Amino acid sequence: MIGIFGGTFDPIHYGHLRSALEVKDIFGLDEVRLIPCANPPHREQPAVSSEMRLQMLELAIKNQPGLKIDIRELNRYDQHQAPSYMVDTLASLRQEFPTEPLLLFIGSDAFTHLTGWHQWQQLFEYAHIVVMTRPGFETQQLDTFFKARLAKDINQLAQASAGKLCFQQVTQLDISATAIRDIIARKQNPGFLLPDAVIEYIKQHQLYETR
Ligand code: ATP
Repeated sequence: MIGIFGGTFDPIHYGHLRSALEVKDIFGLDEVRLIPCANPPHREQPAVSSEMRLQMLELAIKNQPGLKIDIRELNRYDQHQAPSYMVDTLASLRQEFPTEPLLLFIGSDAFTHLTGWHQWQQLFEYAHIVVMTRPGFETQQLDTFFKARLAKDINQLAQASAGKLCFQQVTQLDISATAIRDIIARKQNPGFLLPDAVIEYIKQHQLYETR
């Protein structure tokens, strides 16, 4: 089973890294692919270039063999400058892994907007979706489309290559890239929110110094 963790990673931080590692262990995944987004459709453009966001990812996951970087969204953007839709990313992963269960991980904040994603229903044709939740997260509000796909337990995900929805509690680290960019712009210290090697890179390249 392969995990997919998409994001702008502007910059990558311990909220991303801890959740990726935790779900890898909980679901017994062979790997979790961190997929940096080239041209996010639902938000403003990243503050720094794709190349730099990628270099920060590389520094962050050094010595973490279960975490991989997958640059297909960046490559796709180089070929044709279209929005980076997750449905296209999953379709291309599915071509590469025709039968393997694919688990798309999204935060509960992202889940609340899922029905606004391009061709969101098709996501389930290519992958399972796992929503990473906070303690106390309620699922009663789900509409019938989601309820019909709810997995009874996580073992069900291994039995099909796609199509299930599941909620998994993960350790909550209240860290966001936005807050990190603000801290740096205010000339404060972002230490312990993201890896030192990434902080060093940000300093060297004078990133995020202005808003
Ligand atoms: P920004 O503040 O710029 O919006 P972000 O910190 O939310 O960035 P993204 O790269 O946009 O990071 O997020 C990628 C994915 O990681 C999303 O699914 C998001 O829900 C999840 N995520 C972000 N922060 C955390 C966190 N602290 N813990 C767990 N998951 C997170």
